[in-house]
Amino acid sequence: SKNAIIIGSGIAGLATAIRLKAKNYDVSVFEANESPGGKLSRLESNGYTFDAGPSLFTLPSLVDELFEISGEKPDENFKYYKKNIHCQYFFNDGTKFTAWDDQDKFINEITEVFKINAKSVLEYLDKSKRKYELTSPLFLERSLHKVNSFLNFNTLKAIASANNLDLFDTLDEVNRHHFKDPRLVQLFNRYATYNGSSPYKTPGIMSMIPHLEFNVGTFYPEGGMYSITDSLYALAKKKGVKFNFNSPVDRIICKNGVVEGIITKNEEHSADLVVSNMDIVPTYRKLMPDQKAPEKTLSQERSSSALIYYWGIRKQFPELDLHNIFFSGNYKKEFTDIFDHKKVPDDPTIYINITSKEDPEHAPEGCENWFVMVNVPPNSGQNWDEMISITKKRIISRLNKFLDADIEKLIETEEMLTPITIESKTSSYMGALYGAGSNDRNAAFLRHPNFSSKIKNLYFCGGSVHPGGGIPLCLQSAKIVSSLV
Ligand code: FAD
Repeated sequence: SKNAIIIGSGIAGLATAIRLKAKNYDVSVFEANESPGGKLSRLESNGYTFDAGPSLFTLPSLVDELFEISGEKPDENFKYYKKNIHCQYFFNDGTKFTAWDDQDKFINEITEVFKINAKSVLEYLDKSKRKYELTSPLFLERSLHKVNSFLNFNTLKAIASANNLDLFDTLDEVNRHHFKDPRLVQLFNRYATYNGSSPYKTPGIMSMIPHLEFNVGTFYPEGGMYSITDSLYALAKKKGVKFNFNSPVDRIICKNGVVEGIITKNEEHSADLVVSNMDIVPTYRKLMPDQKAPEKTLSQERSSSALIYYWGIRKQFPELDLHNIFFSGNYKKEFTDIFDHKKVPDDPTIYINITSKEDPEHAPEGCENWFVMVNVPPNSGQNWDEMISITKKRIISRLNKFLDADIEKLIETEEMLTPITIESKTSSYMGALYGAGSNDRNAAFLRHPNFSSKIKNLYFCGGSVHPGGGIPLCLQSAKIVSSLV
């Protein structure tokens, strides 16, 4: 049988390995780190366990599918449940809002807290669903870049305008037209951050994202997000995928426009096809510096990055849930700081993820594991050390007010992740969370394709290429690669 080499074992690399194995390829994965998962990894510190990267899980069926195509029962191998609360929101003016999964409860709460009528919210979510359902099969589930495809960006644009998909207004404009209450505008603007962009720049079609949360649901994998990596790695191994850890790939070998293999640790490994799960920018710059790179695509603005403080907290907060948002007072300024001034916002929105709410063994008794994250620009040489300590003070002082506590005294262990360490741990260009950003309409829809148009048998998967970042889209990229192969 033919053999395939995958560079990297991020979620998309694992999914591609499983899919190609199911197509009877001999599959070898070469991973620079000592363990699989890339951004989807785990961190242990003084009795606390943290999911290091992604924390929100939507569209679990895309993970189930990998077990199904491999002839395994998903529910025996990967367990998850639907959350009854999507998120606890805390607004700067003291408003608290619980986003319930149950639609009646959700509508009750939103109409009571924001004094709006249910019809307006239901209309918004219906529209969100329609946008998703029209865009997904056209765009998220296949490659737009094949010349012989009847689909291309112009077709998408035509469909978008014919169906009023809000490709031409910003997300903020769409939300302000729909909601009068600035708190609701802020709540629905936040979905821009799900792909690392600004609501004041990204196209309004991104208002399809809440559909996934409110109409399909948010989920929690038993044991935490890392169970996704764990169970896919176990599945791949069981099916016979070979893994090589501590094996950074240095070169993709190409001859006469055809890929021939890779070089790692000064050794050549030949392959009939190669899939790079490494960020597309270093894939070109480091692994094939002699090939002509698609400069325009590589120069697309990067998505936001993050500062994350992993705190072991010596107390429990019943008012908090798995996902918690503490909104900034001036959302517009927050995004101007990030994308125009390229600095950590003075008053950032704070996200806290607490998996010990679901898995108590992730923290010692009576304690909680706080993953405290703020959105920041990708690394362009800022003075991070200075911003990290100022930001920590600001976060603590705001949380003290919101929660009426003395947080500083409760922190018994601290770890950190910054744009610089995100890049050094996963090769993400500039430490961006989602590859290219979606502030620009063209960048949002015209990312690097999942194949090379110059080199035969070379493919790309993961958050920096089509269709985009985040677990569901990374899984889609693996599916597209496998169908192109
Ligand atoms: P990555 O995870 O980027 O992994 C790439 C792998 O390739 C790494 O293991 C790396 O070591 C390896 N590699 C790179 N270069 C080489 C080389 N030369 N040789 C060998 N191996 C190499 N998404 C969500 O869906 N929900 C969220 O809530 C969410 N929150 C996030 C929060 C944070 C803090 C971060 C960092 C990301 C978040 N994301 C979220 C985004 C999500 O994590 C990513 O989109 C996704 O995990 C990226 O997967 P990937 O397959 O592109 O590969």
